[in-house]
Amino acid sequence: MPKFLITTAIDYPSGKPHMGHAYEKICTDVIARYKRLKGFDVHFSTGTDEHGMKIQRCAEKEKKSPKQYVDDMVKYFRELCDVLNISYDDFIRTTEPRHVKTAQEIFSIINKKGEIYKGTYEGLYCVDCETYYTEKDLSDGKCPVHGKEPDSVSEESYFFQMGKYREALTKHIEKNHDFIRPESKRKEILNRLQIPLKDLSVSRTSFNWGVPVPIDKKHVQYVWMDALINYLSTIGWPRGKSKEFWPTAVHIIGKDIVWHHTVIWGSILLAAGIAPPKTVFVHGFVNIKGEKISKSKGTPVDPIELADKYGADPLRYFLISEIPFGEDGDFTVESLVTRNNDELLNNLGNLANRILTFIYNKNGGKVTKPGTLDKLDKQLIESTRKYSRSVSEKMDRFDLQSALDEVMYLAKEGNEYFQQKEPWKKDYSNCLYVGANLLRTLAIMLSPFIPESAEKIWEYLNLPGSVHKQKWDSAADLAVKPNHKIKEPAPIFKKF
Ligand SMILES: [Zn+2]
Repeated sequence: MPKFLITTAIDYPSGKPHMGHAYEKICTDVIARYKRLKGFDVHFSTGTDEHGMKIQRCAEKEKKSPKQYVDDMVKYFRELCDVLNISYDDFIRTTEPRHVKTAQEIFSIINKKGEIYKGTYEGLYCVDCETYYTEKDLSDGKCPVHGKEPDSVSEESYFFQMGKYREALTKHIEKNHDFIRPESKRKEILNRLQIPLKDLSVSRTSFNWGVPVPIDKKHVQYVWMDALINYLSTIGWPRGKSKEFWPTAVHIIGKDIVWHHTVIWGSILLAAGIAPPKTVFVHGFVNIKGEKISKSKGTPVDPIELADKYGADPLRYFLISEIPFGEDGDFTVESLVTRNNDELLNNLGNLANRILTFIYNKNGGKVTKPGTLDKLDKQLIESTRKYSRSVSEKMDRFDLQSALDEVMYLAKEGNEYFQQKEPWKKDYSNCLYVGANLLRTLAIMLSPFIPESAEKIWEYLNLPGSVHKQKWDSAADLAVKPNHKIKEPAPIFKKF
């Protein structure tokens, strides 16, 4: 079985999860679910980055130990995954022994190669970003992300000779077009690599909540020499099947950490003698329009509350269909409601309802035996086959929005077909047979996007097993046979 490793960034649990976390997990889940249908042995990991000064400070503020603090916070991130139906295979926490061990192993390998030296770090440090900034990175002397003045810090630190890897990394990016996507981000990083790279400070002594540096226990490994290594810890590198999984690695990340995932991570890996991941895919930000106004009106923007109120599928559907993957987008409750009502309910829900109810009420719950297929029947069957291939091509390129768009377009064609066939007036045997098969195809193709609703369609069709265990490549087969008995259907979507 071919392997496929896909990861989200690991979240920093200094606060509760927000829409950005939800969005990244959903997009990654859609790809993971799709790959499983394509026959891949998928390892999908998500998790939390639990070390650092900020966590230590947050814990102190709440009069907890850092471990107790992260244990309490991680519950919200797991809950987020649960309410959104995120089908992760591993939830990795950087405080777990398996990760600590791997992080130290990587440090030791790089150190043995002579790539680490001791020095003094002086710099402007934003605690919230856990990042040092140079003067020119700041906007008006403040952190460009948080708008706060960074701290001036000077401390003994180990350094990784990252500067040496500029050329090798540039070559790697030039040769491997899939390494950084979308293309705009690839160009951005290549541009930034035109000026010399500084060595990277990889340890701290100013706090102790971290992975101890294996050669000097008064230091802890600094964030990127800790957190990024989770992608190896999750597959148990270098043991077991990790060697098969690693070359397939896809990291799904936000645009604020592209540098860290391409240049820093790429250099660390090259220094350790490990190839960089296959792809770092950069998604945009979800902006919450009028957040303050919504809050005062009592409209929830907390993704857990949103999923509780509207259901995971309408939220998942909205985020994928609204935002081109790789670009920024806006979230508003109004547009979530509109997409739910116009597209899920009136298009897909309507189609499922028409076909299932007709079979159940007019044909004793049995799928009809078709006669000779006419032009309309053949056209729809042909469309179904065509879309199952083209949607797959789009999914392979991670063009999630267009892929979902096309599946929904097929549902629209299904509604038009039903309308033209007028089964309430004419012979309905072909229409119900073709329709039931179309629903089966749609359930499979929609299962990565709206897993619960797809499973419901599957259940009403009374097909064996789970929709999530099917094969994408046989999704368009006419597998629902004449006389197959369906279950009593009920509406799949709600009007908001
Ligand atoms: Zn900051």
